[in-house]
Amino acid sequence: MKNNSRTFALFGNPVAQSLSPLMHSAAFREMKIDASYRALRVGDARDVPGEMEKLNISGASITIPHKTGIMQYLDTVSDSAARIGAVNTVTRADGRLKGDNTDWTGLISALSEALEIRGKRFAVLGAGGAARAAVYGILTEGGIPVVVNRTVQKGEQVAKEFGCDFCPLEDTGMIKGYCLINTTPVGMFPNMDASPVSAETLQHFEWVMDTIYNPLETRLLKDAGRAGCRTISGATMFVHQGAEQIRIWTGLQPPTELMKKVVLERLKDETN
Ligand code: NAP
Repeated sequence: MKNNSRTFALFGNPVAQSLSPLMHSAAFREMKIDASYRALRVGDARDVPGEMEKLNISGASITIPHKTGIMQYLDTVSDSAARIGAVNTVTRADGRLKGDNTDWTGLISALSEALEIRGKRFAVLGAGGAARAAVYGILTEGGIPVVVNRTVQKGEQVAKEFGCDFCPLEDTGMIKGYCLINTTPVGMFPNMDASPVSAETLQHFEWVMDTIYNPLETRLLKDAGRAGCRTISGATMFVHQGAEQIRIWTGLQPPTELMKKVVLERLKDETN
C-alpha cells in the first residue's frame, strides 16, 4: 500500500530550542495534512541534500548556521533568496531541490499588519542575513532602509549593494526615522538585559520591531514601550515566515492565527 504521509524537517545547529516543530505540526494537523515535521541537527550544510533524499523529506526549513552555506547544494534558488544571499526554505520535488527565502516575506507581513512601509524611513540594525532580508523587503515595498551596523565595513558593504544609506551603530541617535528594526541577536535569551541601542535613541522613532522572539518582549521592546513607541515582536515574523513555507510546500493556505496562538502560548509559558 502506498504511504501518502509527507515528511518535513528543520535543519540547523542547534535546533533543540526551535519552535518550528510545534508550529508546523499544529498547522498540518489543523489542515488535515498527513505529515510529520521534526528538527534535525546537522553540522555541515552539504549533508542536507543527502538527508532529504534518504528520509524522503519534501520540504525543509533551514536555520542558523546553514542559510548561506546551503545555497551551493541546491538546483535552483529564487531571485529574492539569491539577492538576499540566504535560503531558509528548501522544497524537494522530482529529486530536485529549490531554495526560497521566507524571512523577508515574514518580516514584511509582520510590518504590514501594523504600519505603512511605502515612503517611510527604517533603521535596520545589523548587516547579516536577517538584515539583508529586511532591507530587501523594505525596498521591495517602497520603503527607505538605512543600514546600521557595529562593524562599519560590513554595514557599508550591505548598504552599497542595496543602494541605501549606512550609519554606524553608535550614531543611531542621529537617525530621524519612522521605525527601528533590530536584526542583531542582542537581547536574545539568555542575555535578556542587553539592548543594541540606548533607550533615549528610541524617542526618535514611532515604531520599534525586534526580530528576536525569545524572549517575547525584549529589553529593546520594553524600552520602546516606555519611550512611547509602538512595538512589533519577532514572534509575528516567525509565524509569517513559517506560514509562507507551508504555502510553498503545499500550495494551500496555512492557519496563521492558530500558528500564532501556539507560538505565543509556548513563549508566554517560557517567560513565566
Ligand atoms: P548574522 O548573520 O550572524 O548577523 C548578525 C548581525 O548582528 C551582524 O551584523 C552583527 O554585527 C550584529 N551583531 C551581533 N552581535 C552584536 C553585538 N553584540 N552588538 C552589535 N551588533 C551585533 O545573524 P542573522 O542570520 O542575520 O540573524 C540575526 C537575528 O535575527 C537572529 O539572532 C534572530 O533572532 C533573528 N531572526 C529572526 C527571525 C524570525 O523569524 N523572527 C528570522 C531570522 C532571524 P557585526 O557585523 O558587527 O558582527
